[in-house]
Amino acid sequence: MSKAQDDSLTQFTSRSAKQIGGAVIDTLLPPQALLGLEGDPIARRMWADVTFLDAPWCESCGFPFEYTIKDGGLCGRCAVKRPAYHRARAAMAYDDGSRALILSFKHGGRTEGLPSFAAQMRRAGRDLLQDADLLVPVPLHPSRLIRRRYNQATLLARALAKLTPAAFAPDVLFRTRRTESQGQFNARARSQNVRGAFAVRNSDTIQGRNIVLIDDVLTTGATLESCARTLKRSGAARIDGLCLARVAKAAALPT
Ligand SMILES: [Zn+2]
Repeated sequence: MSKAQDDSLTQFTSRSAKQIGGAVIDTLLPPQALLGLEGDPIARRMWADVTFLDAPWCESCGFPFEYTIKDGGLCGRCAVKRPAYHRARAAMAYDDGSRALILSFKHGGRTEGLPSFAAQMRRAGRDLLQDADLLVPVPLHPSRLIRRRYNQATLLARALAKLTPAAFAPDVLFRTRRTESQGQFNARARSQNVRGAFAVRNSDTIQGRNIVLIDDVLTTGATLESCARTLKRSGAARIDGLCLARVAKAAALPT
């Protein structure tokens, strides 16, 4: 790599490095080559405004804090009622800075960012992945899968499995019914919409196992909650959730 290229990389990295929380994120954004941005100005623009998430965050749901409260500190919501899953983490904030990147992956067929997405999820989910046995993607209903062509959660779980000892387990969960798109609902309706919508296909494979559920975007956590309840009932030991992005401002959560 030439000196000029190297300088432009450094500038790109520091200009792009943003954070929520106390940790310095400068070193966390991988160079362009790792992000698959070489010669791709559109992808480069899409990554430029991403806000990567790291501690301090709610020990339970991973909601980012402005300041460290204390180790194991909980957000207001989790202090009132702990979710069915043990912990949730996400690699980046789902906001104006990441929306184009996420939607191009989710609906636009752009999957070349997968290795970078997986690397960022491994960073954010390092505590969850330490002793995880299975990576289980949140399933799509078959009718939706046909329209989308792929389940983005499955692609993320498979890419992440290449970076961790945990096994890729795409067939553990399935949808028992087609649910309405969550986008139109408030928090309560989201929870009702996905309640009982999942089932376990082969419960022998999850007995006593530590499972990390994988999804693309965490909003209220209703989907993770429903999946975690189902897995727990079927004999899993511990269920965590790891997402590519999450809504990170309380004001942006649907009420
Ligand atoms: Zn929380």
